[in-house]
Amino acid sequence: MITFEDVVKVYPGGSTAVDHLSLELPTGKTTVLVGPSGCGKTTSLRMINRMVRPTSGRVLIDGRDVAEQDEALLRRGIGYVIQHAGLFPHRTVLDNVATVPMLLGCTRKQARTDALGLLERVGLSAEFAKRYPAQLSGGQQQRVGVARALAADPPIMVMDEPFSAVDPVVREGLHREFLRLQKDLGKTIAMVTHDIDEAIKLGDVVAIFRQGGRLAQVGTPREVLANPADDFVAEFVGRDRGLRSLSFESAADLPVRPLSEVGDLALDDAGRPVGYGSFTRADSLRLVTDLAIISPAGIAVRVDAEGVADGVVRHHDLVDHLAARRREQP
Ligand code: ATP
Repeated sequence: MITFEDVVKVYPGGSTAVDHLSLELPTGKTTVLVGPSGCGKTTSLRMINRMVRPTSGRVLIDGRDVAEQDEALLRRGIGYVIQHAGLFPHRTVLDNVATVPMLLGCTRKQARTDALGLLERVGLSAEFAKRYPAQLSGGQQQRVGVARALAADPPIMVMDEPFSAVDPVVREGLHREFLRLQKDLGKTIAMVTHDIDEAIKLGDVVAIFRQGGRLAQVGTPREVLANPADDFVAEFVGRDRGLRSLSFESAADLPVRPLSEVGDLALDDAGRPVGYGSFTRADSLRLVTDLAIISPAGIAVRVDAEGVADGVVRHHDLVDHLAARRREQP
């Protein structure tokens, strides 16, 4: 468990970056810090691995103040992933991943074998191992960055906008891989993003920050979507702007009930039919069929045959699609 205890950060000569933050990040879960630019997310994240020191208050890991821990030992237990991967440009992909374990005393052979396994885990086959970072796409570089952070098998990962530098299609793929990996590994993850969709999709817990480094609301994605604490959160989570992405363990977990009427056909991003629905208001689409359901807050979730939420029905896609259908109809 990572705990922020009434943490304040004022940079020298600057205004307050983090203002009395108290927050618990549960063990084995992903907590996403999200909010507009400059609201103190990165500063908060960096206080976990002591790259930034609080002006007052404490950050604790399993009850121990990070300020009192040996810095090298502390960092060894915390994998760090940043926006532009931050790979060593003159080392191969394999060496990028194997270097840290070797520095920690692992034999070269073992470190390299483990690195290949990690690369495989993040979806990179052995053929990538010999390449240099510049010979990889942005998404592949991010995967190497994740593999490298995992190489020392840290119980904690801090990730600062790990997926924001890649295009949306690649990002979707990275999200899926991240969720799969995290399901297997169960690390304690603190992730920063400014993208509320990403926060809701990847977070077990979402901590929404507002300007001035103040926490606006903490909760599960479902809680913040269903019950925004105030107008700022409501606006930020986009309640009024239509349907947002969402992922839940199972359909039974959703605050929704399937409807039974049949209206227009709804398609997902890839053009696959995901359900039928009709608009009653711009922000309230009623989706029907056993494949898609809609929450009272106006969130459509696609569920697979077993009832597991596996995607989202996006508002604008439906609007476009339904408009096209209407034009086609006599
Ligand atoms: P973004 O989403 O734009 O990355 P953020 O929410 O991560 O923003 P921080 O980077 O934590 O925000 O910055 C919070 C505030 O602290 C900002 O006003 C920023 O200008 C200021 N700040 C950050 N780092 C420093 C620094 N080293 N010295 C002085 N001020 C800083």
